[in-house]
Amino acid sequence: MNPEKLVRPEILALEAYHVAAADGMVKLDAMENPYALPPALREELAGVLSRVDLNRYPDPQPKKLREALAGRMRVPQGMELLLGNGSDDLIQVVTLALARDGAAMMYPAPTFVMYSMNATFSGMKAVPVPLREDYSFDADAFVARMRAERPALVFIAYPNNPTGVLYPEEDVLKVIAACEGLVVLDEAYHVFAGKSFMPRLPEFPNLVVMRTVSKLGLAGIRLGYLAGGPQWIEQFNKVRQVYNVNVLTQAAALFMLERLEVLEDQAATIRAERQTLGAALSILKGITVFPSEANFFLIRVPDADHTFEALRRQGVLVRNLNSPALRNCLRVTVGRPEENRILLNALREALQ
Ligand code: PMP
Repeated sequence: MNPEKLVRPEILALEAYHVAAADGMVKLDAMENPYALPPALREELAGVLSRVDLNRYPDPQPKKLREALAGRMRVPQGMELLLGNGSDDLIQVVTLALARDGAAMMYPAPTFVMYSMNATFSGMKAVPVPLREDYSFDADAFVARMRAERPALVFIAYPNNPTGVLYPEEDVLKVIAACEGLVVLDEAYHVFAGKSFMPRLPEFPNLVVMRTVSKLGLAGIRLGYLAGGPQWIEQFNKVRQVYNVNVLTQAAALFMLERLEVLEDQAATIRAERQTLGAALSILKGITVFPSEANFFLIRVPDADHTFEALRRQGVLVRNLNSPALRNCLRVTVGRPEENRILLNALREALQ
């Protein structure tokens, strides 16, 4: 029995999302919050988790958690929430729901690879529209292409991964206004950008805002949320797996939302450290640093494969993105101050 005779050709042609081994490394490859929770809070959380009924299925519509999220994340009145097993799950749900025969998905590129992967999974036509050379957004070119392709679905990462660039608000507005399909604004990095379309959601019936608690410091629990009009959430709810957010995640998320200031303080530290790291990177010879409103930097070096390996030999793991659209680019997450110092020293060494 040969799977190649049965598996869809477009799946055979894909490569699985690559997650590098990171044991013992300074881990700056995945845009995680590098700070652990304070020990007292961990103890308290352990107590809460110990009382969770693991023998029961999760509540598929956890009221308290949704209310806490709506309150703390300032979801406007009249909007509803869809929860997911990370925002990866939500990307899949939305894509599956909109994948009518012949429907197209559009996004500025390069961007988060899960959009195009899900277009492939669901049989949607993926239409990447290139960003400018400096990875800024050409809204007019995008809108022109939108008029030709008439996509059912548009993904915009705000700020973008892997570039860190935050597109001007008026450019995003142009896309929303001109789009006959649904625009998903992916605000995975909103805590670092301080900009959001969440408050303006009620103005645009073709907009939904997708978020995650991952970058805030809870990547391990896998919780994403999507805010939008009830007419959208009702349809997406049919597609998601009923029990996509497990009991431990629900309990841990609720616990942390009640203590959100701990994570918000960590995010503020990361933003300050971004400033320091960005300044230090930009004075290194031979490096181009792209402006970032997220918790990472895209940098261009003379030879990304060489620099990536040299960093790895020195115990520093970053992401090598070297490809035609991201020529000689590496992506480095903002870590703790001592991790950033190790990165900078290793980079100096690698670039000699
Ligand atoms: N959107 C963007 C733009 C991302 O960069 C990521 C993670 N790298 C995600 C969504 C997925 O996040 P998660 O599944 O952890 O919520």
